[in-house]
Amino acid sequence: MMNGKEYIDSLRDLDLEVYFLGQRIKSLVDEPMFQPHIHTAAMTYELAHDPEYQEIMTATSHLTGERINRFTHIHQGIDDLVKKVRMMRLLGQKTGTCFQRCVGLDGLNAVYVTTYDIDQKHGTNYHERFRNYLLEVQKNDWMPSGAMTDARGDRSLRPSKQQHPDTYVHIKERSEDGLIVSGMKAHITGAINSHEIITMPTRTMGEEDRDFALSFAIPADAKGVSYVFSRQTNDTRRLDGVLDSGNPKYGIVGGEAIIIFKDVFVPWERVFMAGEYEFTNELVETFAGYHRSNYGGCKVGLADVVIGGSNWIAEAHGIERASHIVDKLTEMIAMAETCWSCTLACSYEGYRTPSGAYHIHPLLANVTKLNITRMVYEWMRLAQDIAGGKIITLPSEKDLENPETMEILTECFAGKEGFPPRDIIKMLRLIENMSVGAGLPEAMHGAGSPAAQKIMIARRSGVDRKMELAKTVAGINQDTSFERIIGKDEKEHWDEVKKKIQEKSVQIC
Ligand code: SF4
Ligand code: FE
Repeated sequence: MMNGKEYIDSLRDLDLEVYFLGQRIKSLVDEPMFQPHIHTAAMTYELAHDPEYQEIMTATSHLTGERINRFTHIHQGIDDLVKKVRMMRLLGQKTGTCFQRCVGLDGLNAVYVTTYDIDQKHGTNYHERFRNYLLEVQKNDWMPSGAMTDARGDRSLRPSKQQHPDTYVHIKERSEDGLIVSGMKAHITGAINSHEIITMPTRTMGEEDRDFALSFAIPADAKGVSYVFSRQTNDTRRLDGVLDSGNPKYGIVGGEAIIIFKDVFVPWERVFMAGEYEFTNELVETFAGYHRSNYGGCKVGLADVVIGGSNWIAEAHGIERASHIVDKLTEMIAMAETCWSCTLACSYEGYRTPSGAYHIHPLLANVTKLNITRMVYEWMRLAQDIAGGKIITLPSEKDLENPETMEILTECFAGKEGFPPRDIIKMLRLIENMSVGAGLPEAMHGAGSPAAQKIMIARRSGVDRKMELAKTVAGINQDTSFERIIGKDEKEHWDEVKKKIQEKSVQIC
């Protein structure tokens, strides 16, 4: 297992083609704008070496029996699913931002589950290829980015009908040695500081979209791959001084980038799906389920930081005992722990898939993420409320250090005795960073937008069964046979789920 420094050094061995603010970036590791993202991802490596967190941060590989970083592990039981979300809350608490490595972890698990099922149906050997790849990931302690979201162009048209075929990553050519692929993936978290890229389809594909039903892994600096790094609210603040940036070491949210694939060669041993369109839905839903469950971990870790910061500021301003402040802080805690309860529930209600890997409870995972899309806004609103208007009107560090204005500003931001004005400004900047910036829309759209969660919730809610329950209680319907009281689609869905469930813990309604 690498530690934080070894991870950062390992990025120097890569030669990524990255563009930002109109320029090609020469050295990623030395670029000041990328420092926070790299430091945050490094924390996923560093904590694995801390004896206090080893139980959460590491796991035993089911392939080799060796101790590995949990971010490269395939979940072998409920205990692993629970430890995964504990790890996410812990990292959120330590960094106050997105640590990026979970997307690759979820990609590894989702591809592991799906390749097994493809092989069962088609007699292919994707799963064996993938296990060999996983061995490499674990041995090298790589961070792969999980590249799912395509650019998608005109959303009303299927991938094969798009005016620009590159809006979806697709197969251009097949040969004896492998595939030639082209296209784009957008908003990919941690892309420029990952060692590898794992791609997955972004949506369910039909037969005519065979060439878009595609999953593979390549080195992040493979020939033909380039990146355009995205901007974030207040991103250049990090160049203005420690005090102005809010979270100087770890930044705002995970650095996202567009990944461009231009005639990239992928050898067959790194291809995990090539045309099996009928498994695209399984891969997308499995990945989305894992990733949506995470949000009740990482965002609650961030909530811990912002609740602590809000309480500290209330104390610094001498208002910590005011009943409305106590009420707001209590609201924040209750909402954060509600989301935490959701993520624990979908982990404890997880189940064993035919591949042997464990998956979370899909309905509960979608409920977790839907709650996050609302409650993060709510607890950040309360943090802004407690902090006061200062969080958007603070002067710059340069003015605080200018002898002409230093004294008056120090007086202006003084609080209760024992709370230095500079510390008060630091904490207000942190709250500004977390509650005003890009973290909010990230909580909304990361792991899929609310509409996507609602589709999954509606599909899995078993509302027909609930109606029958109501009718039976009301004495309207005397027929309680399960097969007859659920609709046809619902029955097919649950038959499928029942086939996959080999353990008792998943509820069917
Ligand atoms: Fe991980 Fe959360 Fe960032 Fe997603 S948003 S990569 S789950 S820290
Ligand atoms: Fe995210």
